[in-house]
Amino acid sequence: MATPAQRREALKAVWHEARECTRCPLADTRTTVVFGNGDADADLMFVGEAPGANEDRKGLPFVGQAGKLLDKLLGEIGMDRGQVFVLNVLKCRPPGNRDPQPGEIEACSDYLFQQVELIEPLVVCTLGNFATKLLRGDSTGITRLHGQAEVRTIGPRAVRLFPLFHPAAALYTPRTLETLRADFQRIPALLAEPAPEQPAAMDELEVPEVEPEALAAPEDPAPEPRGEPEPAPQLGLF
Ligand code: URA
Repeated sequence: MATPAQRREALKAVWHEARECTRCPLADTRTTVVFGNGDADADLMFVGEAPGANEDRKGLPFVGQAGKLLDKLLGEIGMDRGQVFVLNVLKCRPPGNRDPQPGEIEACSDYLFQQVELIEPLVVCTLGNFATKLLRGDSTGITRLHGQAEVRTIGPRAVRLFPLFHPAAALYTPRTLETLRADFQRIPALLAEPAPEQPAAMDELEVPEVEPEALAAPEDPAPEPRGEPEPAPQLGLF
C-alpha cells in the first residue's frame, strides 16, 4: 500500500502532466490549468464543475463568489479549505463559462479519477449536476439526489459520495441556500462513519510468495541520490 508521501509524490506527477495538458481544445483558450488545491491527504473532497474567470486567472478552484460561499459553509461546520481538497470535473475554463461538453469531460476525467485514487478521501461531495452525473455514472439530476449519501466506487476507490447543490446555484436562490446549508450540516457525521470497505486491489490479491532475492536483478543499478526535495508547487497545492 502506498504511504501518504508516495501518494503525494504521485499526485504531483499528475499535476505536472495536467498543467501541460492538450487533451482537448480548452487548452487553446485557458489561461491556467486549475488542478485543485487543499490537503493532499484530506478525508473530505469537493468536486465542482469547471473553473470560471477568476479561477482561470489565479490557477486555483473556487476563488470567486461561489468559493466564498463554500468557505462560509465549511466554516459553519468548523472546517476550512486547508482541511479539504477542492477540484473540478474540468481543469480548464470553458470560454464564456458555457457548460462543459461531453468530449471535454471525457478527456479530463482521468485526472479526477487519479486525484481520488491518490488523495483517498472518505467523503466526496459532488457540487451540482456535472460532478454528480460523472461520478455516479448516470443521468439522475442533483435535485433528486442532493443530501443522499451512498457508497460508490470511483476507479479503484470506494468513497461515500454526497451530492450537494452547487454553491453558485445557491448564491441568488435563498431556498437552495437553505437546502445546501442543511445538507452541509450532515458532513461531520458522514466523516465520522467507518471508512467504506475497499474493493480488493490487484496487489492485495493472493499471490505466491517469492523470495526477495529472486526479484532483484544482480545488475540492478544503485539508487540515484535523491538530492534536495522538490519545492512545493506554486499553486497553493498540497
Ligand atoms: N464553479 C466551479 O464549479 N468551480 C470553480 O472552481 C469555480 C466556480
